[in-house]
Amino acid sequence: MAEEHTTLTVALSQLKLASKKLQLDSGMHKMLSLPKRSISVSIDIRLDNGSVGVFNGVRVQHWDARGPFKGGIRYSPNVTLDDVTALAMLMTWKCAIANIPFGGAKGGVCVDTKKTSKHELERLTRRYVSLIADYLGPHRDIPAPDMYTDSQTMAWIMDTYSQLKGYSIPESATGKPVEIGGSWGRTEATGRGVISCVKQAAENKNVKIKNAAIAIQGFGNVGYHAAVAAQEEGAKVIAVSDSTGGIYCPDGLNPPDVLAHKEQTRSVQNYKGCKNITNEELLELPCDVLIPAALENQITCKNADKIKAKMVAEAANGPTTPDADKVLYEKEICLIPDILANSGGVTVSYFEWVQNLTREQWPLEKVNRKLEEKMTKAFNDVVSISEKEESDMRTGALILGVGRVANAIKVLGLWP
Ligand code: NAD
Repeated sequence: MAEEHTTLTVALSQLKLASKKLQLDSGMHKMLSLPKRSISVSIDIRLDNGSVGVFNGVRVQHWDARGPFKGGIRYSPNVTLDDVTALAMLMTWKCAIANIPFGGAKGGVCVDTKKTSKHELERLTRRYVSLIADYLGPHRDIPAPDMYTDSQTMAWIMDTYSQLKGYSIPESATGKPVEIGGSWGRTEATGRGVISCVKQAAENKNVKIKNAAIAIQGFGNVGYHAAVAAQEEGAKVIAVSDSTGGIYCPDGLNPPDVLAHKEQTRSVQNYKGCKNITNEELLELPCDVLIPAALENQITCKNADKIKAKMVAEAANGPTTPDADKVLYEKEICLIPDILANSGGVTVSYFEWVQNLTREQWPLEKVNRKLEEKMTKAFNDVVSISEKEESDMRTGALILGVGRVANAIKVLGLWP
């Protein structure tokens, strides 16, 4: 019978696999399987109607052996401590694979942003930051955007942290608006990075990205910018979706037009010239590249054998379960794992932090060139380990990421 997967059981089973391949001792494996610190807070705010709202918030700091903790904050009614712990662990491996000097963290608040006003979200964000501020900071833990948080949320975080310290500290959060020290190119970085990996994987397989048919689940920050970057490369975006459902147009659709339609109607569905489809149908469409860019556990043992894409690029964190991984591998579907595919976001977050620390602002061309260099290096590093191990790319990526973190911990030693 197929195993029941949670994001945490999946992350732990991936770590177990990497530990075995790297022959880590049991002490190191245990250290890496637990976060260094988990903070749980109760966020009390005044709602617009005068009553009090109480929201649960967490921040999980996994490992900081390679540098300060770094990771996104998501707002969702489904946030759990277990999920955030798993996502913090993935961040640790991701930063190591990208070879940037950060550890891994993740945060979350149980809130439905669709039912919360902008003023309420601002009060909630500021109160959340005030509750965890002792554990944040540019050399301790640096938040970034994730699901249902954006550059405005990061501006509130940076401002609250700065107000508490008494001076402006732009390097305390990344993914900020450009006006207050955000980096050019940060908003698009995750989606661009995904397409950079797709391009490299396509070259390795002698496939042309031009005219490749691409289906994208999720049309938020990552999904939208992946769609735009894919179109820039001459690919055809044949389907996109959001939480309300999807649309399919075999001749290709125009992402900015679909976004304008979504902004007007709050859904991608009923877009002119397209057929409405469900999120499940989108995953099973015949296409060259499937990009899950929404939630965890979307490709499972229930639908893996129905995936018809030649390549899956994981823009979301944890969209494929381990038993689905096996099915895709047996079907010779090339899977670019999350910890590599979506590392463009944290890479440009690192560039933003460096720019803030040096009080510089780099032009977009420089950011994009350096992003491409980092993505190419990370992709090649992962491919060479996968080839040596005769494994899928996820195993190669895990060996690279977990191995680099374990080596850093060994060199640091245990104190006292
Ligand atoms: P977002 O909030 O901007 O967008 C999320 C999208 O997913 C929205 O279009 C929403 O409608 C859609 N969605 C929600 N539920 C869905 C469902 N059941 N089926 C289909 N679509 C659904 O979030 P984002 O920043 O684009 O993040 C998306 C994924 O990428 C997450 O897994 C996140 O952890 C990961 N990620 C984001 C970044 C980043 O820089 N923002 C970096 C790395 C990884």
